[in-house]
Order: sequence, then structure tokens, then C-alpha cells
Amino acid sequence: MSVRVVARIRPLLKAEIEKDIIVHAAHGTGAESADTKTVVKIPNPKNFGENFSFQFNSVYPSEATQAQVFDNEVSPTVKHLFKGFDVTIFAYGVTGTGKTHTMRGGKSLADRGVIPRLLSSIYRRARKVEKDSTGESTVHVSMSYYEIYNDKVFDLFEAPEKRTPAGLPIRDNEKGKAVVVGLTERPCTSLKEFEQLYDQANVNRSTSATKLNAHSSRSHAILCVKVSQTTGDQTRVSTVSAIDLAGSEDNRRTDNNKERLVESAAINKSLFVLAQCVEAISKSQSRIPYRESKMTRILALGQNKSHTVMVLNLAPVKSYHLDTMSSLNFANRTK
Ligand code: ADP
Ligand code: MG
Repeated sequence: MSVRVVARIRPLLKAEIEKDIIVHAAHGTGAESADTKTVVKIPNPKNFGENFSFQFNSVYPSEATQAQVFDNEVSPTVKHLFKGFDVTIFAYGVTGTGKTHTMRGGKSLADRGVIPRLLSSIYRRARKVEKDSTGESTVHVSMSYYEIYNDKVFDLFEAPEKRTPAGLPIRDNEKGKAVVVGLTERPCTSLKEFEQLYDQANVNRSTSATKLNAHSSRSHAILCVKVSQTTGDQTRVSTVSAIDLAGSEDNRRTDNNKERLVESAAINKSLFVLAQCVEAISKSQSRIPYRESKMTRILALGQNKSHTVMVLNLAPVKSYHLDTMSSLNFANRTK
């Protein structure tokens, strides 16, 4: 079981101004190489003369590319996945800090995020496994994609108008693993096929949010990719989950609308349990409280020699100061 908590600072956006930058990536004092940054520096909101420092396994400054983030943090987990272990990747942060950019990314090759790069890497390895075994082994890839909104699970392959308001039920199967009952699982045999399904489900995600008069940033989007390797009568199954978490902003400060407060309570609870689980994993504790929220329970976080990567997305500018402090304090709680 292992966990890496890394921070990624996004660049300035067009409307933001340079003099507002307050969050910086810095070198740590540890044994890491000189070009690796591991510290985030931010002024104390109550006393600008004083700086706070937060230590991470790695910090990606605003000029870091999508390729760097993937190659350093996610690419090494693919080998692990093919050995039969589960991998979980989270993007945590306030809305507007780059979670979706990190996970999904843009259309151009260079802008592609973690998810398309991961799938590309999975298919490449799958073809290699099949080739090296001279046809004795076959690898199947399938996906499910759902969101958790207000603590309810919704299948993103289901058209929004077909959703039942209560969401899909969760039950423990005979092995004691929590499963979402009725969740669609789609085989995808190539990157192209994956991307079509993924794009289609993302359209469902934004339409359903509009229908609920909510923003998709208020739900956790959970993509699970299952890799099944069959040799003879033996099949080894492992899953990589990539999660674009709900925005961690404190809505109590900005929006007193009742529905937003209900959303916030559900988000806070699930993020709180997530922090506790990541902390328990990083401290190698035997009890991981993953059953205490729906998301961590379905993910069975920390079970089965899993690898977990948490990317903490940060905006560099002053208008995010308090929220950035909360994000950094959240990350501190996971250690
Ligand atoms: P979130 O999903 O956390 O709400 P987004 O991923 O939508 O945030 O990012 C907010 C904006 O910042 C988007 O316009 C996105 O394209 C841009 N952005 C975020 N991270 C980067 C980055 N590393 N490089 C370039 N643009 C970025
Ligand atoms: Mg987003």
C-alpha cells in the first residue's frame, strides 16, 4: 500500500493579473534532486509578512506540463495495475484550480490529461502482454463512470432523464466488497472507443447538472477502468479509478442557499473521510475507515495493496487565498 500526495499550481488565467500571485513552489531541504520542488509557500492570510510552508512528495509549478505530471505520478502505476493491484488517482481542489484540466485535459495531444494518457498506456501494455505471451494471454478493458452527488450514486452512462432521484443502491457482494447495483460496465477495446464513451458520459454529466440546477463541480466524478488479464482458465482483475472530486470550496462563506448547504455538507463529509483514509494509508495503519463514506467504500480505498495518488490542485492568486489555505491544511491532514 502506498500513497503519494503532490501539489500542482496552475498558471495565471487571462483575467488574472501577475501581481496577485501569492502561491509559490519551492525546493525542499530534503534529499531530493535540485530540480525537484517539494514545498508550497503561501503568506499567512492574517500576516502577509509571514510565510507558511507545506511539504509534499512533489510540487508541480505552473509551468509543469501535462506530460510531466503523468510521466512522474501516474505512468509508474500502470505496471502495478498489470500485476493485479488497484490504483486510485484523485484530483482535489477548489473549483477553478485545474482538477478537470489535470484529469481530463484539453483536446490537443500536449493538453491531454491524466485519463487519456493512462488509457493510452494501458492499451499499449495490454497489446505487449498479448504479443509477449504469443497469444496465450488476452487483456480486456472495460469502464464504468458515475458521479456521487449529495451522497447519491448516478450512472453517467444513463441518460439524465432516466435517473431515479434516489440514485443507485450499494450492496456488499459475497466477497464483502461494496458494489453499485445496476451500474453500467462498458467494454472498450481501443483508445478511440474509450474516448467516445468517455466523452458521451461527460455530456451526460453536464446535462444532468444543468437539470438539477446545480454545477457539475458539486459532484465527484468517478471513472473506473477494469483490466482483466486471462491466461488459460485464470483471470486476474485490477481496477484503476480516476476521480475528479467535487470542488472543496466552503460554500457557507459565499452562498447561503439551502440546497448549496446540503450539497456542501455531503461534500465536506466525503472529503473528510477521504483525508482520514489517505492518512491511515500513509501511516500504514491497519484500520482504514473507508466504509464511512460512499465514495471510499465503493473504491475500497486502501485495500488490496493499492496505490493512491492525490493531486492537490492550487490556484496561484490572492482571490483564492483562504480556500488555498484550507486545501493545504486538508493535504496536511493526509500525512
Ligand atoms: P476545476 O476542474 O478544478 O474547476 P479547471 O480544470 O476547469 O478547474 O481549470 C480552470 C481553468 O484553468 C480552465 O480554463 C483550465 O483550462 C485552466 N487551467 C487549469 N490548469 C491549467 C494548467 N496547468 N495549464 C493551463 N491551463 C490550466
Ligand atoms: Mg472541473
